Amino acid sequence: MNLSKSKYCRGLQCPKMLWMEKYMPEEAVDPGNEAILETGNLVGDLAMGYFGDFTEVPYSDDKQDMVDETKRLIECGTENICEASFFFENLYCAVDILKKNGDGWDIVEVKSSTHISDIYLHDMAFQCYVLRGCGLKIKNVFNLHIDSSYVRYGELDLHKFLMLEDCTATVENLLPGIYENIRYICDYVDDAGSDEPDRELTAACNTPYQCVFKNYCYRNIPSPSVFDIAGMRTTTKYSLYNSGIVSFDDIISRKPKLNKNQLLQVESEYYNREPYVYKEEIRACLKDFTFPLYHLDFETTSFAIPPYDGMSPYEQLPFQYSLHIERKEGEEPEHREFLAKEGTDPRRALAESLCRDIPDNVRVLAYNMSFEKGVIKRLASMFDDLSGHLMKIHDNIRDLMTPFSNKLYYDKNFMGSYSIKYVLPAMCPGDPELNYAALNQIHKGDQASAAFADLANHTPEEIAETRKNLLAYCRLDTLAMVRILEKLREIIKD
Ligand code: SF4
Repeated sequence: MNLSKSKYCRGLQCPKMLWMEKYMPEEAVDPGNEAILETGNLVGDLAMGYFGDFTEVPYSDDKQDMVDETKRLIECGTENICEASFFFENLYCAVDILKKNGDGWDIVEVKSSTHISDIYLHDMAFQCYVLRGCGLKIKNVFNLHIDSSYVRYGELDLHKFLMLEDCTATVENLLPGIYENIRYICDYVDDAGSDEPDRELTAACNTPYQCVFKNYCYRNIPSPSVFDIAGMRTTTKYSLYNSGIVSFDDIISRKPKLNKNQLLQVESEYYNREPYVYKEEIRACLKDFTFPLYHLDFETTSFAIPPYDGMSPYEQLPFQYSLHIERKEGEEPEHREFLAKEGTDPRRALAESLCRDIPDNVRVLAYNMSFEKGVIKRLASMFDDLSGHLMKIHDNIRDLMTPFSNKLYYDKNFMGSYSIKYVLPAMCPGDPELNYAALNQIHKGDQASAAFADLANHTPEEIAETRKNLLAYCRLDTLAMVRILEKLREIIKD
């Protein structure tokens, strides 16, 4: 079997993945990571210029063309070769940047993450093994990744945005095991032939990346199972599974050690229990939610390469909010909203609009308030003239999630979660007004984030349509909060 560096890394995670790719590729579920790949490409393109002039090996479907071109560039004395490609026996790799260093070469692997993970080290060790196998003298192996502490002002400073870390010593330590690893992976796939190999389900199915074949390999796991228990360590789930405790039936009969919340989830679902409620405690909580009550929700996006001054890589950039204002109990709330113009820095306009829409002395409600508070605090740190008002909004925020995260109200349909995506359908089942699935285009926060980040690249008609859909999505988030609070008020009434 031929191995590329990415196949090698997947084979290290689980060699059955490579068998599945060969014999049952149709069982793979698209991981939907186009945005991550696109970010990787953007950072990769920028990084090519990190060491000055460079020559890129042109992409070809035929890897041999790339290998031949690399050989030619090396022979004619090229110093920095990007996408330098090599075959060694049945192994293939393309090096992000191959940099001349005296009588040898340095390997530079580029990543769009902000830290080095173990799998990157294995990836670099594989490259080093292949290149040395081809007869190149490899002196150092570096990882070039994003520095999260970088703050952009003016032109992007590539040497501050990216951080070069020397991984030579760790890679050298991994090299003696590479041959064994390659043999094991190749033999595993070759020996199985077309007969599906048995493979124990382990935490490796999720790390370092979620396996795209999980739907297939886990198809016989009952639902619900130990894998559905919220707040349980992944290693604990697999150790229960491997000791034969899989279904909730198994848990009830064999009584493994669970914490209070885990037991609550399992027993509520298993015995089909009615919701339980601590009315007095909820009453005390709601007493603090005084009128007028401003239900607030932000949408944010982020960029690996910070587009505006004062921004760091992957910093959350707020571009939209929705506000439902309850003036009195029982009255329909008033709605206000803000959505930044695409392709502009949204922060100042959003902060000004927020200060116009929310007085500095009213109660503000958010669901999981640490996020909204973080956004407002960051805006306050940027705009001195608005800082006082923004910090008063910040201090006036209370959390609608508290009754649920503190388990003052629990419904079996929460399935151990207190995320609004579980709480809403359980509290307001079948309400057509609150149906995220019925929305156009944007159904989840990450879709809103991706849509806004890409909005300026579309036609005016597409932009208008997406803006309408973004507004509808965010509006539903705060309307959901209003309806959940109404339910809580009903529950504690008698
Ligand atoms: S789901 Fe797990 S066992 Fe199945 S191929 Fe993926 S990693 Fe291997």
